[in-house]
Amino acid sequence: MKLPFVLAKRFVAGETFDESIPKAKYLNQKNLALTLDLLGENVTDKKTADETVDAYIELLHGIHKHGLVSSISIKLTMMGLDIDTQYCKENLFKLLDVAQEHNQFVNIDMEGSDYTQITIDIFKEAFAKYGQSVGTVIQAMLHRTKDDIEELAKLGANIRLVKGAYKEPDHVALQNMSDIREAFKDYAKVLLEHTECPRFGTHDDELVNWLREYTAAKNISKDQFEYQMLYGLREETMVDLTKLGYKTRVYVPFGTDWFPYFTRRLMERKENIWFVLSTMVKK
Ligand SMILES: Cc1cc2nc3c(=O)[nH]c(=O)nc-3n(C[C@H](O)[C@H](O)[C@H](O)COP(=O)(O)OP(=O)(O)OC[C@H]3O[C@@H](n4cnc5c(N)ncnc54)[C@H](O)[C@@H]3O)c2cc1C
Repeated sequence: MKLPFVLAKRFVAGETFDESIPKAKYLNQKNLALTLDLLGENVTDKKTADETVDAYIELLHGIHKHGLVSSISIKLTMMGLDIDTQYCKENLFKLLDVAQEHNQFVNIDMEGSDYTQITIDIFKEAFAKYGQSVGTVIQAMLHRTKDDIEELAKLGANIRLVKGAYKEPDHVALQNMSDIREAFKDYAKVLLEHTECPRFGTHDDELVNWLREYTAAKNISKDQFEYQMLYGLREETMVDLTKLGYKTRVYVPFGTDWFPYFTRRLMERKENIWFVLSTMVKK
C-alpha cells in the first residue's frame, strides 16, 4: 500500500523536481543555499539505476535552468552500488562530468555502516579526479570515524559531519547522545583545522552554539564553515544564522520514494511524529 504524500510533506519538498521548485526558490529568497536530493536507496536493477542517473542529470540541468543556488546530494546505493561497484562508479563519474560542466557540487551521502568503507573508497577515487567538486559525509557516532576523519582531513576532503541516522550495534557505533556530541565536537575540530570549508549537519542547539563559540575563540571566520539542516526543520534558526553572517544550506529531499527517509526522521525525534499527526488532523 502506498502511503499518501501529505504525511511526508513536512520533510519532503515534493514528489517531483517541478513540484519542489517553489519551495526551493522560497528558501533561496531567504538567502539559504540548498542541496537537492532525489530520494531513494538500495536500487537492485540496472534499469532503475540508469533512470536514477538520468534523473540526477536532469536535476543538474534543472538547477541551472531555474537559477537555483543549490548543489546535489546522492546515495551510491541509488546508483547501483548493490549491483556492481564498477558500474556504480561509472554512474557516479558520469554524473560528476555533468556537474563539472555546470560548476556544481555533488555530495555523496553516507548510508548504513555496511557501506562506509566502499563509500569512502569510491569518494577517494572521485576526489582524485574531481577535487573539491565532490564531497562526502562522516558519521560522528561510528567508532571507525576516529581514523577516517584523520585520513580524509589530511587529504583536504570536503566533508559534511553528522551524528549518523542509521541504527547501528554497540560494537560499530556510540549509543549515548552525550558521547556522540563529544565525538562530533572532536571531529569538528579536526575538520576546521585541516579542511577548507567543512559542513556541519545538525539541528542540535548544543552543537550549533558550540560551533559558534569554538570558531569565534579560534578566530575562524563565519564563511570558513557551513551549517546544514534538513528541509522542514528549524528554518528560523537557519535564517537567523544567515543573518549573523554564517554560511547555511538546507538539505531538500524530493521524490516518490520518500518512505525510508521519512521513517528515519520520525525515529529521530518524538516531536517529528507530532508534526505528522498534526498534518493529518489539519488535512
Ligand atoms: C544536512 C544534513 C545532512 C545529513 N546527511 C546524512 C547522511 O548523509 N548520513 C547520515 O547517516 N545522516 C545524515 N544526516 C542525519 C544526521 O545523521 C542525524 O541523524 C540528524 O541530523 C539528527 O541529529 P541532530 O544532530 O540534528 O539532532 P538530534 O540528535 O535529532 O537532536 C538533538 C537535540 O537537538 C535539538 N533539536 C533537534 N531537532 C530539533 C528541532 N527540529 N527543533 C528544535 N530543536 C531540535 C533538541 O534539543 C534535540 O534534543 C544529515 C543531517 C543533516 C542536517
